[in-house]
Amino acid sequence: MKEIITALGRTFIRMPIGMLVVLKHMFKKPVTLDYPRKKKPMAPRFMGRQYLERYDDGSERCVSCGLCAAACPSDCIYMEPAENEKGERYAKVFEINLLRCIFCGFCEEACPEEAIFMGHHYEFSADNRDSFIWTKEDMLVKHPRKDNPFKTLFRRVRKVYGVTDKTR
Ligand code: SF4
Ligand code: SF4
Repeated sequence: MKEIITALGRTFIRMPIGMLVVLKHMFKKPVTLDYPRKKKPMAPRFMGRQYLERYDDGSERCVSCGLCAAACPSDCIYMEPAENEKGERYAKVFEINLLRCIFCGFCEEACPEEAIFMGHHYEFSADNRDSFIWTKEDMLVKHPRKDNPFKTLFRRVRKVYGVTDKTR
């Protein structure tokens, strides 16, 4: 008899309660994302992988001064300077070891040329260690840039007034 009462309770009380929970969530907006097809926009202050910027004429901003490497607490930036045909200094080699990088943003803050920026990109998993050594070719932005010109303006404002908004 006890088993019959328990079975009836499950069928007519607990099951409808469970179904009510299901119905309640059926019409709510899902909290999950169809990743990787859809990506969650990162917070403005999120610091992902680094980019190397160019001047408007396409020349590289980095003059290989080494300040970012000096500021880096993880000692993960390596560079070799060189001079171009105009006698301007640039980074012939510029590498960041992302396995050591802690994404603190000190390199960006230390750069006097606004050459290095922390972007919003975070998908760089790989199955071999060499892929985590990012070279200049991996980081240098294309020219001409195709993104919103306001982004450049925001970056300058952030630099001058200490605004913390990351616009990549
Ligand atoms: S984000 Fe921090 S740890 Fe990474 S390269 Fe820049 S200074 Fe170094
Ligand atoms: S990224 Fe900036 S701080 Fe680092 S070497 Fe280039 S110019 Fe200097």
